[in-house]
Amino acid sequence: KLMGSEREIASLKEALESVRYEAMTDQLTGVGNRKRFDRAIEEALLASEATNEPFSLLVCDIDHFKKFNDTHGHQTGDQVLRLVGSTIKGSVAQNAIACRYGGEEFCVILPSSKLGTATQIADVIRQAVMGKELVKRSTGETLGRVTISIGVAELNMSDTVQSLIERADQCLYAAKHAGRNRVVNETQFAAQESAA
Ligand code: GH3
Ligand code: MG
Ligand code: MG
Repeated sequence: KLMGSEREIASLKEALESVRYEAMTDQLTGVGNRKRFDRAIEEALLASEATNEPFSLLVCDIDHFKKFNDTHGHQTGDQVLRLVGSTIKGSVAQNAIACRYGGEEFCVILPSSKLGTATQIADVIRQAVMGKELVKRSTGETLGRVTISIGVAELNMSDTVQSLIERADQCLYAAKHAGRNRVVNETQFAAQESAA
């Protein structure tokens, strides 16, 4: 009887684990969802404060995605979201946490990465996305390429989760403003601001 209940507990644990995983995963793209992101960034900030290890955040947004949807349809847009999600995940190390922040925006938490490294990683992601030729599943029709813009910020001593996200977001908007398909980090952003 005891052996039976041990087995039962083990299988319940497994079920719980898979429910947990599902609750943290974006259904469409398979990367982490918003809930996963909110938890992970909170944890990353605490870990970084405790260990003095740096960490950086990437905020990525697909360029002109509304136009892509309007031209090719929402279903095909969804395929592109899947492709972008898997390309981002496939471009970063195991310890990086890639999540869909919402809509066509993705965030990547890069533990132990300073701004320079994070900027390089962002550019690897940007180029990987640009490198994919889009082919419509149902027809085999080629649809060209999509590009993404990325903002990069590194946690500083006075940051909260909110202020870090805001800084990365500002950089993303600077990247959009500068013409899209590019990476802007907070140092570049600050230099640009003081020149203006
Ligand atoms: P920008 O380069 O400035 O980012 O332009 P944009 O068109 O990408 O930005 P905007 O925020 O105007 O449009 C985002 C579009 O993303 C709106 C919507 O059509 C599309 N979108 C958001 N979520 C989804 C989704 O789950 N599936 C699909 N197919 N499209 C989505
Ligand atoms: Mg957007
Ligand atoms: Mg967009």
